[in-house]
Amino acid sequence: MKILIANPGSTSYKCKLFDTTNWEVIFQAGVERIGDAQGIITCQFKGRDKTVENRPVPDYIQAVNLTLDVLKRTVPLKDIAAAGFKTVLAKGVTGCVRLTPDVISAMKEFEPLAPVHTRVYLHAISVFEKVLPSVPRVGLFETAFHAAIPPEAYLYGIPYGYFEKYGIRKYGFHGASHRYVARRVKELYFDDWPGVNVISCHLGGSASVCAVKNGVSVDTSMGMSPQSGLLNAKRVGDLDPFALLYLMEKENLSIAQTRDLLISKSGVFGISGKSGDFRDIEKAMDSGDARAELAFKTFAYIVRRYIGEYLAVLNGADCIAFTAGIGQNQHRLRRAALEGMDKLGVVLDGEKNGTTKEGIISADHSKILVAVLATDEERIVAEEVEKLLA
Ligand code: ADP
Repeated sequence: MKILIANPGSTSYKCKLFDTTNWEVIFQAGVERIGDAQGIITCQFKGRDKTVENRPVPDYIQAVNLTLDVLKRTVPLKDIAAAGFKTVLAKGVTGCVRLTPDVISAMKEFEPLAPVHTRVYLHAISVFEKVLPSVPRVGLFETAFHAAIPPEAYLYGIPYGYFEKYGIRKYGFHGASHRYVARRVKELYFDDWPGVNVISCHLGGSASVCAVKNGVSVDTSMGMSPQSGLLNAKRVGDLDPFALLYLMEKENLSIAQTRDLLISKSGVFGISGKSGDFRDIEKAMDSGDARAELAFKTFAYIVRRYIGEYLAVLNGADCIAFTAGIGQNQHRLRRAALEGMDKLGVVLDGEKNGTTKEGIISADHSKILVAVLATDEERIVAEEVEKLLA
């Protein structure tokens, strides 16, 4: 079976075509800078050279069409069994489901909680409906992996009726990534271990930590929205609700202005006043920028705090795994987050920690293994879509 996984971003579109007989990626493509004067289109079939083309791509529908035009030279589009999406959240819906009109309405209902991501997904799904109408569209919700988190971990201290009426609770995100990380850790390092406890740290432009007990998420740092938990590149992370009310009153902010502030002016960008990208933060720190250093330290501290929290929740861990852009590439951040945790059984190996490749970075005598992994969210989506179709 061939399953196309669509990965839309705010100005980019990426896709991968999986052949589920051997789980190989037989085609992948990306379109960047959609809507700019010059777009970048890259396409690659398995075993062949990558092609790169620069030309304007005015909108999303053209981006999807361009990649499909290249794909159909080798794979007939009728062979695509489904288009899979890593959808974010929907009111009252989770798991891996067909994107029916009811599911789309449920996504729209919760759109204000993840406006940037959900808007992009809703648009991409509607484009696929036009471009490939006979191909089923399926979403694996990012909340799905966290469905077993117990009530004491997902409830907030507000009147219970609001949880019942509006579904106000922790949902958790990055489900596909955390699921992949926990599975990969078991596969690589604990093949014959009966129960493996993993603390999965997905640290990218969007960041979360997850406590995984025997392959099941039991708690995670993001809450009802992906704006909570750790600092994100430009999204806020945890914030005292009364601090927010105070700020809104003082600055006379509307709900729309506040939402914008929390989504696009906060997080690492908000503290550093420079950038939400750790590559810029690292450069600025090295040239003595105190605010960049503060953003770095705050980010590292919150990662550390959640790791500590989940060591308590899980009664220790077998592995702490780092993935995504920062988790994989930023050895300084990993060091700062795990420094001085030897009494908890965590000791990094300074040299091994220099890596950006999959592997163990803890010292031989570390009780808890620390690893770097390359996540593969698309693979998880493709597998779940295949299960649903089967
Ligand atoms: P997302 O998909 O959430 O945007 P990614 O996992 O692609 O996140 O991570 C992107 C982030 O990772 C960047 O914003 C940057 O902070 C960080 N990053 C990416 N590459 C590097 C690198 N080589 N060195 C340091 N940080 C990096």
